Amino acid sequence: MSSEIFLTKDVKSDLTNYLKGKQYSEICLLTDQNTGRYCFPLLSELFPKASIIQVEAGEEKKNLSTSEKIWQKMTDFQLDRKALMLNLGGGVIGDMGGFCAATYKRGIDFIQIPTTLLSQVDASVGGKLGIDFKNFKNHIGVFQVPKAVFIDATFLKTLPPAELRSGFAEIIKHCLIADKTQWEKISKKTLTEQNLQELVAHSVKIKEQIVQEDPKENGLRKILNFGHTIGHAIESYFLEIPDKKLLHGEAIAIGMIAEAYISIKKGFITLEEAEQIKEYILKIYGRVDIFEFDIEKIIPLTLQDKKNENNKIQCSLLEKVGKANYNNPISYADIKEGISYYNS
Ligand code: NAD
Repeated sequence: MSSEIFLTKDVKSDLTNYLKGKQYSEICLLTDQNTGRYCFPLLSELFPKASIIQVEAGEEKKNLSTSEKIWQKMTDFQLDRKALMLNLGGGVIGDMGGFCAATYKRGIDFIQIPTTLLSQVDASVGGKLGIDFKNFKNHIGVFQVPKAVFIDATFLKTLPPAELRSGFAEIIKHCLIADKTQWEKISKKTLTEQNLQELVAHSVKIKEQIVQEDPKENGLRKILNFGHTIGHAIESYFLEIPDKKLLHGEAIAIGMIAEAYISIKKGFITLEEAEQIKEYILKIYGRVDIFEFDIEKIIPLTLQDKKNENNKIQCSLLEKVGKANYNNPISYADIKEGISYYNS
């Protein structure tokens, strides 16, 4: 089953129309302190009686303890199985709120209203829900598609620039894995020169098509993980080091450079193509120090990647620019060389 996706310029009226005639017993709205402050005012008139749950913002709160608080609030509000949950926020709220909704009383309907660029182009589409466990990213979770997704660029106006940059990494990824022409177009422009509304629509279309073909990630969907085998390990590693913490997209940007290098090693893309990718990504994101001792600790974290099979690290790589493949076995040495290429 797939979700209805609304690319809207007026979330309030489109959501009102959508909810007309729907018989939900109650509407519960999940925010974090930032989306409560900056995004909820756009919708507050609609929900004078909504049960509001607000949690602390941040990846480090996407865990079991916050989920427990959400389930507790849902229970306090006496939500029954006909209730609807609206997740108003970035990928953290979408992933965790969706997870809590999908598991509460064996599952209630939920709608994603993504408010970051990253969640608009990626996290809100495709039904992957979950939380981090210890320092393993998205370790506990389920697949469950939302009833609907409302994507409105108005929310991006209050988004901090670093968060915008983080989301842009997934746009770069979508171009690299599925649309060479679009990659060539975006790579000629800085982030501020991009037409984000157009790029959001483009990314959502690519992700939706892939997910529809392979909703449970048995095959093709794995290409969406380009940059993520190494990127997630880097993100998990730095999550534990407060002054070096990276945003999701910043980590994925590093992962894309490292995995582009492994794509050369496998004979898929040329050094020149990888260099173009590296140069553009470094221009947007700068370079993070990853020392030898960091690399040694990052490598084993890739073993937790959900695409792995039989303890072998399986990576999605660029078969060529604008096309990706998956289930490429890679070694510790490949990962080390990939990160060293990023450093060089
Ligand atoms: P996030 O949800 O932490 O949001 C980033 C920050 O921006 C937070 O502080 C938030 O409060 C704030 N914020 C959100 N919207 C705002 C707005 N409009 N104005 C001002 N501030 C705002 O992070 P994110 O980058 O959106 O999402 C990252 C998460 O998404 C990660 O946990 C990642 O694993 C997950 N993710 C999931 C999928 C999926 O398929 N489910 C895909 C990609 C990423």
